[in-house]
Amino acid sequence: MYSHRDREGGPLDRKRISDVLDKHLEKSPSSTSRGLNSKDKERSSLPSTSTGKSQLDHRSASLSKAKYSDEESETDSEESDVSGSDGDDTSWISWFCNLRGNEFFCEVDDAYIQDDFNLCGLTSQVPYYDYALDLILDVESSHGDMFTEEQNELVESAAEMLYGLIHVRYILTSKGMSAMLEKYKSYDFGRCPRVYCCGQPCLPVGQSDIPRSSTVKIYCPKCEDIYYPRSKYQGNMDGAYFGTTFPHLFLMTYGHLKPQKPTQNYTPRVFGFKIHKP
Ligand SMILES: [Zn+2]
Repeated sequence: MYSHRDREGGPLDRKRISDVLDKHLEKSPSSTSRGLNSKDKERSSLPSTSTGKSQLDHRSASLSKAKYSDEESETDSEESDVSGSDGDDTSWISWFCNLRGNEFFCEVDDAYIQDDFNLCGLTSQVPYYDYALDLILDVESSHGDMFTEEQNELVESAAEMLYGLIHVRYILTSKGMSAMLEKYKSYDFGRCPRVYCCGQPCLPVGQSDIPRSSTVKIYCPKCEDIYYPRSKYQGNMDGAYFGTTFPHLFLMTYGHLKPQKPTQNYTPRVFGFKIHKP
């Protein structure tokens, strides 16, 4: 059994989790414990004296992400934003996209996910596929009663991966791209750290389309280079959930957003003299 600490570190650990998931898939589920949805209800009916934050922590913890439990004591605006909206009327998708570190995700349309055509090929990539899909769509699972707590956690990890793999497809559709445009306009993906890019807003990009190969990076349309996201929480995200194509297709689609190349370059100097390059 993994502790939350064990899961720290992103993609490599996700692979480990997935290996465990695979192992569990071969076993028949035990008959003890509650199902997914009863567990969800239990969470959302936490005592009203506890703040929204503790509800979030509770739920985050069971999503098996060390990145949240790491700084449980820290209160910031992002977290309180989330706690306010965590209720019965919050869908899994909005809840998930509002978690710290998940800011790069846009909310995928339910209709897109419900169309089997769009999910073609994902069954074989994601363990616990059917349960994960039910969780994402807030569908009451009839098999949930057979799961143990641990299995529920594994399903939640699988749901995270499934959402990512749906997301990478969705953001290449016109609807998905316009959702990402809104996020781009509000600088949700951060700005280029290069001084002469003058705060150019960036777009998320993966260095590989294969899950668990590398973490997400940000692409600057001005200097056309990639950088690590500023937040370590975002830095743990799998790059395959955004893919290698997205920012480039995005800039082809919204051509007017493509900025001019930077006019200035930094020149290293020693005592005011340019350094001679052999
Ligand atoms: Zn740049």
